[in-house]
Amino acid sequence: MGKKPRRALVLGGSYAGLFAARVLTEQYDEVLIVDRDRLVGERGPRRGRPQGRHINAMHVRGLQVTEELFPGFVDGLVADGCPTGDYAGSCRWFFNGQPLVREDIGYIAVPATAPLMERHLRERVERLPRVRFVERHDIVGLEATPDHSRITGARLADLDDDRREVVIEADLVVDATGRGSRTPAMLKRFGYGTVPEERIKINLGYVTQHYELDDDPWRGDLAIIPVAYPGSPRGAIFTQTDHGRVELTTYGLLGDHPPTDQEGFYEFVRSLAIPDIADALKTARPVDDPVPFHYPVTLRRRYERMSRLPAGLVVTGDAVTSFNPVYAQGMTVAAISALTLRRHLRPAGEPDPATYFRDLARDCIDAPWEMTTTVDLNFPDVPGNRSLKMRMVQRYLRLVQVAATRDPKVTTAYLRAAGMVDTPQSLMRPAVLWRVLRGAFTRPAAAPPRQPALARTR
Ligand SMILES: Cc1cc2nc3c(=O)[nH]c(=O)nc-3n(C[C@H](O)[C@H](O)[C@H](O)COP(=O)(O)OP(=O)(O)OC[C@H]3O[C@@H](n4cnc5c(N)ncnc54)[C@H](O)[C@@H]3O)c2cc1C
Repeated sequence: MGKKPRRALVLGGSYAGLFAARVLTEQYDEVLIVDRDRLVGERGPRRGRPQGRHINAMHVRGLQVTEELFPGFVDGLVADGCPTGDYAGSCRWFFNGQPLVREDIGYIAVPATAPLMERHLRERVERLPRVRFVERHDIVGLEATPDHSRITGARLADLDDDRREVVIEADLVVDATGRGSRTPAMLKRFGYGTVPEERIKINLGYVTQHYELDDDPWRGDLAIIPVAYPGSPRGAIFTQTDHGRVELTTYGLLGDHPPTDQEGFYEFVRSLAIPDIADALKTARPVDDPVPFHYPVTLRRRYERMSRLPAGLVVTGDAVTSFNPVYAQGMTVAAISALTLRRHLRPAGEPDPATYFRDLARDCIDAPWEMTTTVDLNFPDVPGNRSLKMRMVQRYLRLVQVAATRDPKVTTAYLRAAGMVDTPQSLMRPAVLWRVLRGAFTRPAAAPPRQPALARTR
């Protein structure tokens, strides 16, 4: 008798599920990916991934990990019509309404649309020999041993067969079903208590629209990105993506959401802290209607604080932490989480949930969560506790942003931290600290250039 093949079951076939599947194929004989959507061959936005109709930016670190796990990924996007540029030097970043100094930092940016990037990733996973997709199945629950000490699989409802229920057994279940994950409810039912959560109410509204342009607002750049700040809690990301598609996502915090009627939407764009995007839209032709998305609250599930967890189950991606999408961290965190999972698969072939969640929190989530929570709580009306340490960091970040409008070395340090190549703590290194203080407290040699006549400084 041969050994029973070992099976891993991935719940959710979006970014986190695809990355997890990739590393699971190194240890498991069979990797099944379940999703309620049709995935294979899908080219457009889909119901289960709300990001599909909105802006898609992957940070430097996310692209690095994707390349490590799927060599040639970026080349594939470029061959499919994606423009590329420098993550810092090709993007016109504005903080507090002021342009950051333009400086190439040697890291690539690839502004692909969300469905295109997801399709490229999925096609790479499809080609892995041990992977099989189980599409159009709703995951309705987890299966466990009678004493609930081990998760043994999942119960699914077949959406194309009158919700006929099937159970898929597995040696390891990986929950990557996004922020609506049912694992907390299942753990409660199995007697493990409540998963502690942290939430920040930001009441964010997105609206996205695509255009044809006659004029060239880019002048060799990829994107124009005015970031919302307390003085103007409205922001936007205006970018060219694959095949010349021009995408604009605008957003407002604390209920100040962009309208979805055309004139109201343009009015919102005109109210941004910089005029560049409104100027570019003067002769633009919309190719679709403005599409909204409401994101009320960020959410972090603290599995690492659970006193007990069942064997045979781990969770990843947005199912653990759903970040404010404005900061574009979710896909990068999903990618680096797969590296943590891979490390935990190695010693025993199966992760120990307690140490997996501890390392996931420490290595993948703590830094981006703290960074964005600090920035979100800089908006006075966002409810939450602001410790003395946080208030000091907020002040320091403000100085970093001012200095980054004047000193290219500070811009580089700031965007390396934002791109998750370096930790936020790297901004406190003496060489950066000194430049931040010098840059923030000395007057600029000349006033920042007026928009839209923004000159590149390199
Ligand atoms: C509007 C918006 C904009 C964003 N912009 C960015 C960005 O620019 N950059 C970035 O890095 N991140 C961004 N994000 C976050 C990013 O989309 C996620 O972090 C990323 O997709 C990884 O999430 P995930 O795979 O964990 O979950 P999701 O992408 O939410 O996928 C969950 C999957 O599970 C499936 N599923 C869920 N429940 C069930 C069920 N019961 N049965 C069967 N299938 C189920 C869904 O169909 C889906 O395929 C954005 C998010 C939103 C909402």
